[in-house]
Amino acid sequence: MPASFELELRGRISGRRAISHIEDLVATGDRFVGGDGDGRAAELVRTRFRDLGLEVADREFETLGYRHGRVELRLGNGRAFDAIPPYFSPPTPPGGVEGELVFVGGGEEADYEGLDVEGRIVVMQEVGFGYSRFWLGTFVALAARRGAVAMVVIHPLPWPYRMSLEAGNGDLASRFCDEQLPVVCVSGIDGGQILHAIGAGGARATLMVEAELPRVTSWNVSGTLRGSELPDEVVLVHAHRDHGLEPGANDNGSGYGTMLEVASALAGSRPRRSLEFLCTTAEEGVTPGVAAYIAAREAEGTLGQIRAAIDLDMFGVGGKVKLVELGLWPDRPPIPHTEWLMRRVEELADELGYDVGRMTATWGVAESGRFLEAGVPAIWFWKPDDFYYHSVHDTADKLDGNSLKAVGDLTAITMWRLANEAGLPREP
Ligand SMILES: [Zn+2]
Repeated sequence: MPASFELELRGRISGRRAISHIEDLVATGDRFVGGDGDGRAAELVRTRFRDLGLEVADREFETLGYRHGRVELRLGNGRAFDAIPPYFSPPTPPGGVEGELVFVGGGEEADYEGLDVEGRIVVMQEVGFGYSRFWLGTFVALAARRGAVAMVVIHPLPWPYRMSLEAGNGDLASRFCDEQLPVVCVSGIDGGQILHAIGAGGARATLMVEAELPRVTSWNVSGTLRGSELPDEVVLVHAHRDHGLEPGANDNGSGYGTMLEVASALAGSRPRRSLEFLCTTAEEGVTPGVAAYIAAREAEGTLGQIRAAIDLDMFGVGGKVKLVELGLWPDRPPIPHTEWLMRRVEELADELGYDVGRMTATWGVAESGRFLEAGVPAIWFWKPDDFYYHSVHDTADKLDGNSLKAVGDLTAITMWRLANEAGLPREP
């Protein structure tokens, strides 16, 4: 049975208000790390934390940013298509590259057999309905080694999808492959037109990508409510404020807005342990932002203070809310999330009448993976089935406030319980 203060916490959390926080975040603009909106979003969250009476601390770090300007994909017959580059795609030379289009299917080694792609633009198709080509690095490297000059990726959905030029490795040191090419993604509908032109024979195209990959400075912003008895033990909730592509209302406005609701419900309470609300950036890609936060905590000698970390990342659109049980990186053994922590949430869900599932994340682990690798107990709330995410259609009108409320209730009460119980397990 939830205690009366826990029910009070639940009563303070509003899905509608979470959405209004998200609308404010979206209004800051381009929130890719180092983008114009990133600084504005960081300032927005600092202000919110201060208004709630939390102690605000910035941990500054440097990382790779990405900005794209004009992007064009035009067939020889003049027909142009809506296209977006994956983040970290290199630019083309100023006038673009021109070449014959060659279809390479799913873009695996065997797909190139008998094909000459030297000096040509390869067209690769996402296989099935999946997202198995999200990490394009190794596919691009295969094409580059065969002499291709650029790549077009056809995504199954009816709009272009933002992918990554990274290799998709958990190890930040092997984040990128050595061989790279300029790449754009087009929709499944436009992809049909492009494949038709290739089938008709001799299709040529011009592809242009204006892009910059600057070193940028940004901040992991914390708001802390000091514990009354064990201030050096911390129960952490975190959400990344950056997006893959504007506007990013679900990914990850949903985590951000819900975290602010949880923070405002708990502000003014007197937990025994400290509560920290952490707004990260540079989650997009292979999560270098939270990795920098963990490295900073390690250098301060305070990483061990974090007794549990709850990752709020993308659960405003889609079916059932899930806890990620297992996360997979191609270069790592599977990463299990913390069983005792998942059980706490599931038991609470039973008490409150909510339905929470479990799943495996098959193409990488979000920020929770970095905490787990550092030995910190961690869980991640996620809905994997948002077809709009990483596209211009990830807008606030699609968010399900009831989902935000359910995750907010579960997070706030779990944090409160963890902050107050006698002893917490150490095992991640
Ligand atoms: Zn995300």
